[in-house]
Amino acid sequence: MKTGSKPRAEIAGAGIGGLTAAAALAQRGWQVRVHERAPDLRAFGAGIYIWGNGLRVLEAIGAYDEAAVGAHVGQWFETRDHCNRVMEQIPINSSGGARLITILRETLIRSLTHACERAGVEIVTGSHAASASADGELTLDDGTRLQADLIVASDGIGSRIRDSLDLLAYREPLHYGAVRMLIEMGQNDVAAEDRGKYIEYFSGTRRILYTPASATDLYIALCCADDDHAARRVPVDTTLWKESFPHLGHLIDRFADAGRWDSFEVVRLRQWARGRVAIIGDAAHAMPPYLGQGGGCALMNALSLAVFATEHQNDLPAALVQWEERERPMTEHTQQTASLLGHMNNWPDELRSEVMVLTGQSEYLANERMKTALHVPTGT
Ligand SMILES: Cc1cc2nc3c(=O)[nH]c(=O)nc-3n(C[C@H](O)[C@H](O)[C@H](O)COP(=O)(O)OP(=O)(O)OC[C@H]3O[C@@H](n4cnc5c(N)ncnc54)[C@H](O)[C@@H]3O)c2cc1C
Repeated sequence: MKTGSKPRAEIAGAGIGGLTAAAALAQRGWQVRVHERAPDLRAFGAGIYIWGNGLRVLEAIGAYDEAAVGAHVGQWFETRDHCNRVMEQIPINSSGGARLITILRETLIRSLTHACERAGVEIVTGSHAASASADGELTLDDGTRLQADLIVASDGIGSRIRDSLDLLAYREPLHYGAVRMLIEMGQNDVAAEDRGKYIEYFSGTRRILYTPASATDLYIALCCADDDHAARRVPVDTTLWKESFPHLGHLIDRFADAGRWDSFEVVRLRQWARGRVAIIGDAAHAMPPYLGQGGGCALMNALSLAVFATEHQNDLPAALVQWEERERPMTEHTQQTASLLGHMNNWPDELRSEVMVLTGQSEYLANERMKTALHVPTGT
């Protein structure tokens, strides 16, 4: 970096991680450009849970007010068994407990994009990042080479930047996934007293996640094994899903024709950084969504990256090593906990009910589950 000039960052990928890093860096005096391969900044994935850790990051970068407009703020998160009996009931948004809002993904991306624009970030769509080098060069598909003090790879689970630096330790397919969709909220979808709750229904190896995501939008995730071909089909086979969840007939009858199947994976890296390149979000630590924390960890690590990079900009490679040492243990703890929760998919219904009723009564385990959501990120 030349004396007196602004430090420069080039960022690959305008998802949750990339936009957060971009806004946080620009707010700290960096000149930032984001490259997004898609022709526009649209998010897929219907709705999203954002816990307290992610909410604090949104507040820190000035995106919270816009993100929270119209958000659903529920009072209970419940898990129900195959007979529709409550296994766990976790209070949310009560005094001293975990904070959680659920919103439309497009609302989140819009609020982050506006935070970037206010901070002067340049966002280039239709720009495909191909590779990076440790000394701070980003190469695009069209051959353009861009020099920067910091390169951020936030190009998602299949990150080309990460792979160009040979940082991947492994990508582990979990043989399970979800079809996600948004539908309009209906008066008879579930019992009146359940309408405002977040509810995860289990039956055999299938799950339905019921999530109000605004005053009128319902976010539905239908989860099943990769090889449960009939259940993962889109348009959804409503007869088949009603066989597994007869008590949700009203809701299942209204499932949309559209939706998208995604398989869950775990990504683990040898290192999160090499030289002047930092890897964030799913590119660094994709995890199954059972805790609703993949995006939360991307938000936290993006903000803390901006804090470390700014405080130690005269020795960026050392700053990135410190950043990884600080953030990686909490993120990987979250990733491991989420993976463990996934094992329950294959348990017999009766066993799962017994265990979850017990864990639902355990204050210690409830606290463990909430630890990440209550974690305070660096720099806030
Ligand atoms: C079913 C499901 C439910 C989930 N629910 C939640 C939840 O409730 N709460 C939560 O916190 N997390 C949740 N997650 C996880 C969350 O979606 C991810 O962790 C988060 O989106 C990761 O953000 P990211 O910015 O790292 O990657 P992405 O969102 O994948 O963004 C990557 C961006 O990079 C772009 N890109 C890719 N390659 C290139 C390239 N070569 N050049 C330029 N641009 C490129 C892509 O187009 C994309 O815009 C869920 C995940 C799944 C699968």
